[in-house]
Amino acid sequence: MIHLANHHSHTNFSDGHATPEQFVNKALDNNLVTLGFSDHAPIPVEGLVGMKLEDLPSYSLVIDRLRNQTQEDLQIYKSLEVDYIPGIINVDSPHIQSAGLDYILGAVHYVGQFADGSFWSFESGQEHFERGLHEIYSGDIREAISRYYELIREMLNLHTPDIVAHLDRIKKLNGENRYFNEKEKWYRELVTETLETIAAKNVIMEINTKGVYKNETSDTYPSFWILEIANELGIATHLASDAHHPDDLQGAFDFGLKQLKKAGYKKTFIRLDNEWQDSALIGDRIFIF
Ligand SMILES: [Zn+2]
Ligand SMILES: [Zn+2]
Repeated sequence: MIHLANHHSHTNFSDGHATPEQFVNKALDNNLVTLGFSDHAPIPVEGLVGMKLEDLPSYSLVIDRLRNQTQEDLQIYKSLEVDYIPGIINVDSPHIQSAGLDYILGAVHYVGQFADGSFWSFESGQEHFERGLHEIYSGDIREAISRYYELIREMLNLHTPDIVAHLDRIKKLNGENRYFNEKEKWYRELVTETLETIAAKNVIMEINTKGVYKNETSDTYPSFWILEIANELGIATHLASDAHHPDDLQGAFDFGLKQLKKAGYKKTFIRLDNEWQDSALIGDRIFIF
């Protein structure tokens, strides 16, 4: 199956491993119709993952230049993946609002702070994860995960992004149910409540394939059963690989599309001509109408 759009990619302006030009060249080689850059937004705290604030103007200029060069062949969009950290950063922060973005991805990667004020992330390896789990949440995984989904709902309600990125990424280290079981009632209720907020705020939910092609998880972010509920709730989706290298621009997209269709989705959204447009999931290819 082919999917010719990716709205979530990271260059060496943040933690990606290639220049924007290299991403564009790969996108042209692969006949993509749409490429969205979404580097991690600058966070006004030392040591967190994000672009340097002083690099934001050149990020913007480089993308504008590439867009002018490729306008006939490839639609390029300027975005940022913006963390929600209460009191520190959100999509309404002045440096985000003045960045001239076409759309914004909202994400939660930091879930609380250690006693010394440093931030806990589930992206920093198992040892760091377990230290935070014990020091901040007394080893109570349910409390930690509840806080994660509470932060996502708070983001959706108070500082609404266009897209909610990788909804259940907190499962990243949960291979073989090491910390919790997604089938447990408390977990399903947390996710369902969050899906209801996504539906109420009319936000697009990302189907993120990074876990699959990186062998972090056996399923997309979010998991298949979540897609089924999302479809029942009428939540719009977009497919994204969260590429940190041009080779991953369409990573595991065939799997992602298969899961979407299996969950009952007949279409997903693609950014075209500056709008989110329906595409129908027909046969072995996405048709745009
Ligand atoms: Zn992310
Ligand atoms: Zn990302």
